[in-house]
Amino acid sequence: MQIVSVENLSIRYNSTDVFSGVTLAFNAGDYVALAGPNGSGKSTLIKAMLGLIEPAAGSVRIFGASPAGFTDWQRVGYIPQRLVSFSPYFPATVKEVVSMGLLSGKKFPKRLSSKDSAAIDRALSLMDIAALKDKKIGELSGGQQQRVIIARAVINEPELLILDEPTTAVDPETREKFFGVIGALNKSNGTTVILITHDTGSAGKYASKLLYFDRRVVFFGTFKDFCESPNMAEYFGPGSQHLICHRHD
Ligand code: ADP
Repeated sequence: MQIVSVENLSIRYNSTDVFSGVTLAFNAGDYVALAGPNGSGKSTLIKAMLGLIEPAAGSVRIFGASPAGFTDWQRVGYIPQRLVSFSPYFPATVKEVVSMGLLSGKKFPKRLSSKDSAAIDRALSLMDIAALKDKKIGELSGGQQQRVIIARAVINEPELLILDEPTTAVDPETREKFFGVIGALNKSNGTTVILITHDTGSAGKYASKLLYFDRRVVFFGTFKDFCESPNMAEYFGPGSQHLICHRHD
């Protein structure tokens, strides 16, 4: 089943094409690393898929609907790259911040049920922050705040999770934990994951498919196919090709 697809998609800012004629589809259960140089259109592609940018031409389908007509946004989780840094005086506790992930999908009255409280506890222990539940978020370290943001994004068990890889301000342990949790969601829940990454060297350790985008689809397929592709050997040079594919130990 296709979760998101674009057909012949063209995006233009101020009459300049960022890309044109892009066609691709992400299937249920895919764990896609989306890589490419800075300014190559990765975020723009994601924004178009989420209906945040209007296509100049072509079409987008998300869960079978056009983004404009799609209303089930709690099926989609998004973790931004740049974390909001909470002021030490921000009044909300960890539990309250994570519960916002649930409330955003609710109609009024926005109250938490006991089922919701159980879901909050599950998300907190998944991220190893159960002990921080009643702490003010602004008093936590950057790495701990990151875990809270991830807990908030996964609490609804979204079917599609889009992440901008956090590259800065995250300690190695949180980073490993982050990839561990995302990988587990993908495997056990079948969550479709799109991970925008700047780290082509390690994406292959986690993801099952690579989309290499540079204002066009340079490559989209499994890491194994990437590794065996003569075109990619030519494009990247054989050394970099195998550094990226991570299929050799
Ligand atoms: P990436 O995510 O791969 O770094 P982006 O999608 O952010 O790339 O940007 C692709 C291109 O579109 C870049 O040349 C960027 O300068 C341009 N761009 C991005 N957002 C805007 C905008 N809001 N207005 C005009 N140009 C933009």
